[in-house]
Amino acid sequence: MTARNMVLLGPPGAGKGTQAKELSARLGVPHISTGDMLREAVREGTPLGLKAKAVMESGGLVSDELLTGIVKERLAKGDCGPGFILDGYPRNLSQAAILEGILKELGKEAVRAVELEVADEVIVSRLSSRRSCPSCGAVYNVVTSPPKSPGVCDKCGTSLTLREDDKEDVIRERLRVYHEKTAPLSQHFRSRGALLSVPGDGRPEDVLRDVQKAIG
Ligand code: AMP
Repeated sequence: MTARNMVLLGPPGAGKGTQAKELSARLGVPHISTGDMLREAVREGTPLGLKAKAVMESGGLVSDELLTGIVKERLAKGDCGPGFILDGYPRNLSQAAILEGILKELGKEAVRAVELEVADEVIVSRLSSRRSCPSCGAVYNVVTSPPKSPGVCDKCGTSLTLREDDKEDVIRERLRVYHEKTAPLSQHFRSRGALLSVPGDGRPEDVLRDVQKAIG
């Protein structure tokens, strides 16, 4: 079987995490989120977390060097043999080149990119109503997918919080960084015949159906 090596592209809050989780369960390949890995490192206070924390809270991008090691180590694990879904990586053209190098080195096929297209104003309203569990990482939306009891995580009972980087001024900065650094990746993958674009502003189940149709 051809490996299912995929990257999800799209602005912060486009639904990459939500779609990646569903696809991961359906395709039986791991969901690899560099944002989740970094947040875990921050929670645990590891050297990586200590270096990444301030940059993440300001809405900027952590340096490529800090990401390369963790991405390579993760992709080398056995569960990535049948494929993987990268969410939040690559985030700029140099990370796309680094990823190509890692895949070659590991003897893996090149990735296909699935891009979720969502307008900036939709992103701002989605992210400001997002709430996250600081303990287990579960994600809710106070409007579209609230927890069973308000403000409390269904999975572990911890009080939900608004991520530092989901505050409106930081969201605007993340969008600015996205347009400057990450959006050029669409053209990068398009020129390799490896870009699939899907509208991302519908209901999660409709977006999932369109993504599945696009990847075939
Ligand atoms: P995310 O959950 O993907 O929105 O990531 C949250 C934050 O983690 C981003 O705003 C960045 O500060 C950092 N981050 C995640 N992935 C990367 C990456 N590939 N390169 C640089 N920074 C990243």
